[in-house]
Amino acid sequence: MGIDVVLDKCTGCGLCVKACPFAAVVVKDKKAEIDARCTLCGACADACKFEAIIIQRPEQTTEDLSGYKGVWTFVELHGEGIRKVSLELLGKSSDIADELGEKVGAVLLGRDTARHCDGLAAHGADVIYLAEHENLEDYYTQTYSAILCGLISNHRPSIVLFPATHLGRDLAPRVAATLGLGLTADCTGLSITEGMLLQSRPAFGGNIMADIICPGARPQMATVRPNVMKAREPDTGRKAEIVTVPVDIDLKGLDVVIKDVVSTVTKGVKSLEEVDLIVSGGRGMGNSENFAILEELADILGGGVGASRAAVDAGWRPRSDQVGQTGKTVSPRLYIACGISGKIQHQVGMKSSDTIVAINKDPEAPIFEIADYGIVGDLFEIVPALNEEFKRTLHKGK
Ligand SMILES: Cc1cc2nc3c(=O)[nH]c(=O)nc-3n(C[C@H](O)[C@H](O)[C@H](O)COP(=O)(O)OP(=O)(O)OC[C@H]3O[C@@H](n4cnc5c(N)ncnc54)[C@H](O)[C@@H]3O)c2cc1C
Repeated sequence: MGIDVVLDKCTGCGLCVKACPFAAVVVKDKKAEIDARCTLCGACADACKFEAIIIQRPEQTTEDLSGYKGVWTFVELHGEGIRKVSLELLGKSSDIADELGEKVGAVLLGRDTARHCDGLAAHGADVIYLAEHENLEDYYTQTYSAILCGLISNHRPSIVLFPATHLGRDLAPRVAATLGLGLTADCTGLSITEGMLLQSRPAFGGNIMADIICPGARPQMATVRPNVMKAREPDTGRKAEIVTVPVDIDLKGLDVVIKDVVSTVTKGVKSLEEVDLIVSGGRGMGNSENFAILEELADILGGGVGASRAAVDAGWRPRSDQVGQTGKTVSPRLYIACGISGKIQHQVGMKSSDTIVAINKDPEAPIFEIADYGIVGDLFEIVPALNEEFKRTLHKGK
């Protein structure tokens, strides 16, 4: 494993200096020089337009993999806080690490993020790799992946988990490709078999679950859907070791420039993945206007409105409302499915809800197989009746 500068090709342009997040490259006498701070993250080789920097990584199948230790979670931040899925992954990492006798690592990148360390420790992190820099405030694939690749090359964890969010789905493949590793995307189950990570995910349109292991490479890497793992109850007495990662980020050499970050979520409104109650509608709703009765129910009970893919494809609801395999995975305390048949692709996105209520006029609809409470009947009679009754009861309670 090593890094070389091909002197004949190096022009001393300095792109590699800008790209290196660890300040390990300098140009002397018009040639790049790389010092001991190099983590083999690969950012300089990617930036070089002349193929003058060569990184040799070990052929993993011939390597002894026993030196890889630690179950890591990449921590995604959201607004002022830690995204819930990161805490879920820390919970899962803790279970896996307990079984393997390894430590739980949390990788936290950003600007002024040290304030989150106590929360990460409380949720299971034993070691927190903390890289702070003003230029890490916005997520850039290149900067974040370079730092992660460097950390992984240096510390050699056995497992790295990423949230299957937009960010995680962008970052994890880049890290895997740079380090020449595999990646299992969108896992819904993780366990240990014969010391290896057994990664389960739906395949063939959700009709089967595929179990994937990675015997020949480390770390084993997976993205994991939000709301399928459980976060641990926080233990505020827990402490973590904090490993400060010195970084020096220059955004000038990047291929992408972020000019503005626009949130499509209204301030104060929680996303479907985070609400406690969802009223969802399917093809049985008939049209977009009819969703008003579901919105009313969600308003009365304080929740959000979801939809099946059929309702979204019909243009009755926005894509961001879709629950299921190609939509969101949700896990509210109460999920009320109205006019949804409950095909497997819908179920995989909501079956971990604490309580499921189904309203459907077909008593044979598959949704009833997973529902805790089923109401067979016409939703256009049942939902308005529920709305009236809830309004009356809740009003009385005030
Ligand atoms: C690769 C792939 C990915 C997919 N991803 C998703 C996904 O992410 N999410 C998703 O939802 N689907 C997904 N699907 C589609 C899925 O297979 C189903 O087609 C879809 O979920 C059906 O939606 P539905 O239940 O609303 O409609 P239908 O299956 O048509 O069911 C409508 C239901 O409404 C009931 N109904 C009708 N009128 C009334 C009434 N007045 N009162 C009460 N009940 C009534 C009917 O009895 C019926 O059960 C995917 C499919 C594929 C192949």
